[in-house]
Amino acid sequence: MHQDTYKHKGQRKKLIEELYNSGITDKSVLEAMMKIPRHFFMDIGLDKLAYQNKAFPIAAGQTISQPYTVAFQTQLLEVKKGAKILEVGTGSGYQTAVLLELGTKVYTIERQKELYLNAQVLLKTLGYKANFFYGDGYKGKQSYGPFDGIIVTAGAPFIPDALKEQLKIGGILVIPVGENDKQIMYKITKTDENEFKEEQFGDFRFVPMLEGTAKK
Ligand code: SAH
Repeated sequence: MHQDTYKHKGQRKKLIEELYNSGITDKSVLEAMMKIPRHFFMDIGLDKLAYQNKAFPIAAGQTISQPYTVAFQTQLLEVKKGAKILEVGTGSGYQTAVLLELGTKVYTIERQKELYLNAQVLLKTLGYKANFFYGDGYKGKQSYGPFDGIIVTAGAPFIPDALKEQLKIGGILVIPVGENDKQIMYKITKTDENEFKEEQFGDFRFVPMLEGTAKK
């Protein structure tokens, strides 16, 4: 069983300071991340490493994103309380928790059954409520859209049209784009029906965004 000890809290505070010093200035993002015990989202054996600013393995050969990446993507999304957010790549559910802590309504899709199931149990235990879907994030979730924000947490070889279409006008899509293990972070703002503003931010490394659901 995981416990959130003073030691964990102290390590977490240090990590948050490190994020602030590396350019994450959105206080609401930092405060949300200060509240969430990241080690709960990782294997118990990684307990001591959870507050290093690094990605770590989770089940199904996937990773929990690096804290800096989570903070950076969340900051780019410019979320407001009550916003409707679509997340592609639930993974551990850590990013989901950050979005929920910010007071948003989250719809999250995962293609690995095991992760989809685990994240639901964990978030429920921690008292968070999200809408979980097992499926292919390339298609988005049209019936629940349009969204104020869409965040993709896997490396996409291209920008899926469905995700752009499911944004509200004024809505923001944050997506790492690129093949192999290097992506460029894109922020795409829907400025009008069929009109988009594209901005690029530095290099990141993600596990790949894959089509369909995973075969066992
Ligand atoms: N936000 C997560 C990141 C997990 S890694 C976290 O910090 O824990 C990215 C996740 O995206 C993986 O779990 C992977 O299975 C998932 N993924 C990849 N392609 C996908 C797709 N097309 N639809 C839904 N999820 C996808």
